[in-house]
Amino acid sequence: MTLTQEVVRQYLPLFDEQGRAAAVGDDVGRDRHYLPDLPVEDPYQAGHRTCAGCGPAIEYRSVLKAAGQNTVVAGPTGCMYVANATYMSTPYTVPWAHTQIASGGSFTSGVAAAYEAMIRKGKYRGQYPNIIVMAGDGSAADIGIGSISGALYRGHDALFICYDNECYANTGIQTSPTTPYGGNTTFTPPGKVIPEGKKLPPKNLAKMMAEGHPNCYVATTTVGYLMDLMNKTRKGLNFRGAAFMHVYTPCQKGWVYQTPMTVELGRRVVEAGLFPVWEYDPLTRSYDYFIPPTLRPVTDYLVMQGRFGHMHPEHAATMQRAANRNWEDMGVEVPTRLRELEDPAHNEYVKETTYSMPVQRGVGA
Ligand code: SF4
Ligand code: MG
Repeated sequence: MTLTQEVVRQYLPLFDEQGRAAAVGDDVGRDRHYLPDLPVEDPYQAGHRTCAGCGPAIEYRSVLKAAGQNTVVAGPTGCMYVANATYMSTPYTVPWAHTQIASGGSFTSGVAAAYEAMIRKGKYRGQYPNIIVMAGDGSAADIGIGSISGALYRGHDALFICYDNECYANTGIQTSPTTPYGGNTTFTPPGKVIPEGKKLPPKNLAKMMAEGHPNCYVATTTVGYLMDLMNKTRKGLNFRGAAFMHVYTPCQKGWVYQTPMTVELGRRVVEAGLFPVWEYDPLTRSYDYFIPPTLRPVTDYLVMQGRFGHMHPEHAATMQRAANRNWEDMGVEVPTRLRELEDPAHNEYVKETTYSMPVQRGVGA
């Protein structure tokens, strides 16, 4: 008779459990980004080759700091595969493997199932590792969504992350299903016939994942709230079963903005109502929405990026209508000023808007 070994899992304490986040639960949202003591360990080291200001690189570093050294990472094809897998200059100090763009979910399922089996059979002695796949939006929201959905459905004990830069950046800034309405990409250039650029609204990836896989832990966050990002990483890893996290990660090259503004964009997109931050609890089947302390017009966000520089007043108004519907979904009463901005007459051409923050007048992709 073969003795079956117990699979021992890690538990990663949340950062606010040790009294290190004095701002927990405060009313200005600092608990989402204030962290006096970052973990010293850095499984994503120097040595990658992403662009200056790359949002996905910030996301990778934060997720892996939160996960620690007993971690295995998979990376489907995308910017963060190409930029991090150059021969002799990989930034990882933990095991990492490339997968095809469509197979991040199935590959990671196999890794999780193999660790379970090897530990049970006594062929691998040690704790069950953190198993993470970080897929771009081209993979997680488009080409590879089927394999990730399958893995979530089967409940493999792993964390499935979409780092979302809202385009196929690696291949030259083509539109993806999460590219916002109005986004200028090489496949959606604004012109005389279609002046807004992209006509379609973005796919609501995280809600699809939560509603379609109600037994999974699902969360959204951005690189503007690094502590929130790191804590949700740990919650997803601690969850026994499949977890999915959708992270907004600006792409300096594709969006055309000033490089120090990556984290600022990560907060503004939330304050503009364009990327709701929430957590889905599979036990209660309920959503916990983060309501930012400041609610902004969408133009506060649009003017900082060249990809939106072509937008007309009616396009900004369309965007504001979408943001206001998001606020309503979150149970927020929409302020009168934001309601007025649903009318094109209250908007300007984005390129003519004056603004105190660094404004990007580039031409987009
Ligand atoms: Fe990062 Fe965008 Fe550059 Fe890719 S193209 S490395 S996502 S900034
Ligand atoms: Mg992408």
